[in-house]
Amino acid sequence: MLVDYHWHTTRCGHASGTMQEYLNVARAKGLTEVGFADHIPMYWLKSNKIDPELAMSTTELPEYLAEVELLRRTNLDINIKLGLEVDFIPGHEATAKKILTALPLDYVLGSVHYLNDWGFDNPHLIHHYQEWDLLELYHCYFEQIRAAASSGLFDIIAHPDLIKKFGYRPQKEITEIYRQTARVFADSEVCVEINTAGLRVPAQEIYPSLAFLKLLHRYKVPVTTGSDAHKPEHVGQGFKEALQLLELAGYREITIFNKRQKSYCKI
Ligand code: ZN
Ligand code: FE
Ligand code: FE
Ligand code: ZN
Repeated sequence: MLVDYHWHTTRCGHASGTMQEYLNVARAKGLTEVGFADHIPMYWLKSNKIDPELAMSTTELPEYLAEVELLRRTNLDINIKLGLEVDFIPGHEATAKKILTALPLDYVLGSVHYLNDWGFDNPHLIHHYQEWDLLELYHCYFEQIRAAASSGLFDIIAHPDLIKKFGYRPQKEITEIYRQTARVFADSEVCVEINTAGLRVPAQEIYPSLAFLKLLHRYKVPVTTGSDAHKPEHVGQGFKEALQLLELAGYREITIFNKRQKSYCKI
């Protein structure tokens, strides 16, 4: 069995469909353990800098929690977990911590979407890739993803090699970057997300790559799965490929979360 722990909602301003529609697709696909993990309000910005097309607003957060709670009561055949996708922003850890500890979450997905102020996964900002030496860019990205893991803020590191999203890849081998990152993940006891959204973008590959996932397995880093659904049709998408990838890397079980506690489940 695989779980789908990464669903967005219309509150983030760039997703569509009702939350019930996500659940209907999950039911049709036979998923029994799922979770919403919408984008946290942009806690690191002043309110006049906040982009309503990137994340829910602060006032929407309680509504989000309440709707998940309501859907749990009306969809008793599916385990619906409450998650949140939380940007890792160096220097703002204390603010994130304060928000997260006050919420009744089952898990927190930690994401690196920004390097300095550049939203490198934003299709409108692709032109900035030209300004980088790609190997240097990858070093910079993975350094930040390791800092995210070490921060202790997150249960799961989302899309751990998101930097490949638009297909910009360095010429050189980056096995050592993967190895160093796997070691830090293991030391910080985070779980890593197998995220199938990579199949929908120019990268044309699940996050993480097979080479990276093999190292994560060697360092005994636990994994979970998610589609990063931004519309109902995305639910469970690419899960056949995810299953294959997990098998190739040697994984036999995935991680399940309850009130931020891990347990393991046979694939
Ligand atoms: Zn999104
Ligand atoms: Fe993300
Ligand atoms: Fe996401
Ligand atoms: Zn996303």
